[in-house]
Amino acid sequence: MSDNCIFCKIVKGEIPSRKVYEDDDILAFHDIKPAAPVHFLIIPKMHIESLDTADMSQQLVLGKMLAKAGELARSQGLTDGFRTIVNTGRIGCQEVYHLHMHILGGPNPLGVMLAH
Ligand code: AMP
Ligand code: ZN
Repeated sequence: MSDNCIFCKIVKGEIPSRKVYEDDDILAFHDIKPAAPVHFLIIPKMHIESLDTADMSQQLVLGKMLAKAGELARSQGLTDGFRTIVNTGRIGCQEVYHLHMHILGGPNPLGVMLAH
């Protein structure tokens, strides 16, 4: 846990969230500023800063985030695909330095991946 981390505070229940799923290792909750009709985040409960700092000792929780993505997306109505995004570091425009995977989708295709 990291004291000043907003997502650690969500894990601890100190900041409210609209929960999608929780188990011992991961938490999923709706993004506060949705960029698509369905937009939620999957995070490890342990504080991992980013994909840049992740390592093999965290492979189980990192794998779980991916392995659960489809089931959780379907639970939110995304039955025909979705997009996953993990922004990393300055170039990736990461805002919150607690690793998180965005799951985005809706009734219509999301369009090109990056605006140029
Ligand atoms: P990123 O740019 O990948 O670091 O994105 C951080 C995401 O966290 C953004 O989409 C924010 O809208 C979202 N976010 C920030 N604070 C909260 C919060 N308290 N509850 C839910 N989502 C949040
Ligand atoms: Zn954290």
